Amino acid sequence: MSNLSRRNVIKSLTLAGAGAIISPKILWSFPKKKDKLGVALVGLGYYSTDLLAPALQQTKHCYLAGIVTGTPSKADTWKLKYNIPDKNIYNYQNFHEIANNDDIDVVYVVLPPSMHEEYVVKAANAGKHVWCEKPMAMTEAECARMIEACKKNKRKLAIGYRLQHEPNTKEYRRIVNNKLLGKVLKLEDAAGYVDNRTNHWKQTRELGGGVMLDMGVYAIQGARLGTGMEPLSVVSAKTSTTRPHIYKDGLAETAIATLEFPGGVMANIKTSFGENVNFMNITCEKGIIAMAPYSAYAGVKGKSPLGDINTPYETPWQQANQMDDDAQSIMNNKPMLVPGEEGLRDIRIVEAILKSADTGRSVKL
Ligand code: NAD
Repeated sequence: MSNLSRRNVIKSLTLAGAGAIISPKILWSFPKKKDKLGVALVGLGYYSTDLLAPALQQTKHCYLAGIVTGTPSKADTWKLKYNIPDKNIYNYQNFHEIANNDDIDVVYVVLPPSMHEEYVVKAANAGKHVWCEKPMAMTEAECARMIEACKKNKRKLAIGYRLQHEPNTKEYRRIVNNKLLGKVLKLEDAAGYVDNRTNHWKQTRELGGGVMLDMGVYAIQGARLGTGMEPLSVVSAKTSTTRPHIYKDGLAETAIATLEFPGGVMANIKTSFGENVNFMNITCEKGIIAMAPYSAYAGVKGKSPLGDINTPYETPWQQANQMDDDAQSIMNNKPMLVPGEEGLRDIRIVEAILKSADTGRSVKL
């Protein structure tokens, strides 16, 4: 109940009682609006451990209230480190019981992509708002079911595209969307790093591995945000690997694609697990916006004829900023900045790129 409606209830009780004293019991029975939302992280791997949990120590509008893990030793470590009560610690078998826990307002799914749909749907059915890491899921159909589950339960869904909350990304988008350098003529971007692991989920197709789902969504986001448009087709695409012993059965270590946007604008994008690469050049009528890096945790920066784009901050401010934005949208009942529909758009393009690479043909979107 909002403070306003609490006041209205109190007001009408006062009027009804014509001066009678209201029992404190009656007032306490109306739940107060929370100052901070309680977040439960599902999956305590690298991103939760190194970025999200530290970021949740900096957030103003949400805090680390609970964890969901299949590894009892992790539960012990996290419990001590972050002072998490036993009643807020779940495993994958008793996760559904989170429905009865008022400390948890938001479930943040930080699992391998093949598990995103299952846990997003379970969290929504448990009555929790949901944040889900990128890539949203493995297929467009999974994304659609996740959106539907949150709608059906009247819960909000956000995807962890931290860059959309980031000031330097917002600045290049402002220049593009307001045509401050005229129209976009073409775009080129590349997102990659050298991943030497051999049997991680990123190298396992069934778990959502392959570069296209993982780093590919950054290259796709760059092309969509950098042109300010939605692609009409994948003109061509090619996947490859220099390490077939790691990226087996045609799983992509590297992918390149040309996307066609309205007005004949072409974006050449590249993504790789075999190369450290992180830049985007947006060629506009009156000059180039050159971002490098454009998708790092800190140090995102660029140059354009309008000046430097370089608002500094330190890791993990980006993640804290994203979660605070999303917590405020929930508390104020505003649309999420990066809703499920935004994750779905990228997965549709991932599928089209893989289809184009497989068939050697262009694929309409
Ligand atoms: P990770 O492998 O380090 O962690 C995955 C976690 O899932 C582990 O705790 C693991 O124990 C758990 N898990 C449960 N069941 C599993 C199973 N069947 N197989 C494998 N692991 C299982 O991965 P990560 O790097 O933390 O990535 C998790 C999610 O976060 C992915 O969706 C990834 O794309 C995303 N991520 C996002 C960013 C970002 O910048 N937004 C950065 C890194 C990772």
